[in-house]
Amino acid sequence: MDGAQPRGRSQAEIDEKLDLRARLAVEHLARLAAEGPERDCCLCGYRGRFSPVRTKPGIWCPSCDSRPRHRLFKLWLDRGGAAEIEGRRVLHFASEPILTAVVQPLAARYATADILPGHDLHLDMEAIDQPDASWDVAIANHVLEHLDDRKALAELHRVLAPGGLFLVTVPLVEGWAETLENPAWTSPEDRRAYYTDPLHLRFYGRDFRDRLAQAGFAVEDFTAVEPDVFRFGLQRGETLFVARKAAAPGAGR
Ligand SMILES: [Zn+2]
Repeated sequence: MDGAQPRGRSQAEIDEKLDLRARLAVEHLARLAAEGPERDCCLCGYRGRFSPVRTKPGIWCPSCDSRPRHRLFKLWLDRGGAAEIEGRRVLHFASEPILTAVVQPLAARYATADILPGHDLHLDMEAIDQPDASWDVAIANHVLEHLDDRKALAELHRVLAPGGLFLVTVPLVEGWAETLENPAWTSPEDRRAYYTDPLHLRFYGRDFRDRLAQAGFAVEDFTAVEPDVFRFGLQRGETLFVARKAAAPGAGR
């Protein structure tokens, strides 16, 4: 039986199959957008169907453009996180306006930061031009995969005050023990193929927690589970990492 294989299709049949499957996929997404289940947006209060983005059905709130990670962040705020932000100094990297709208009113001081123009502070996360312990909370959604994360995490730890929080999400596969990161993959084509985006430098595994710990943070997970996933259109199993710098010795006594 060596080499036995099922008979494959002819090239003409394959071309037809490819075309059919592509059309069915588009129809499927269109049908879900028109007739799929209703969700609640915990950010803007919209209730109704969410729209697809590329291959993913029902992830984008059509009223405020929030993505699942933004709604996960809002749930964290609503379930105790807001008390961690209230009256604090908050530095928001690559800020999303929809999150600025809910975080800024809580903060004593709030600044957006980016290497691109148009933000409150022009900062490179690998070398943050801010004094030690000058912020209480840092936020960065889907930023670390774009840069040298060891440098960035060391810098974030430095600029945070004792007890300070780093709130972070990244593209991550929990089934991978180790982060996929190959320095030989430098072309946009390779990065798109392996990391899904030409500007990404890695795709994290669950050892992301170790990277946070190595930088000095104690890590807690805030993970999207049911019934929240269905109700709020979250990404199943997505985690907001709540990374905390150790409090100063004697603090809280
Ligand atoms: Zn919304």
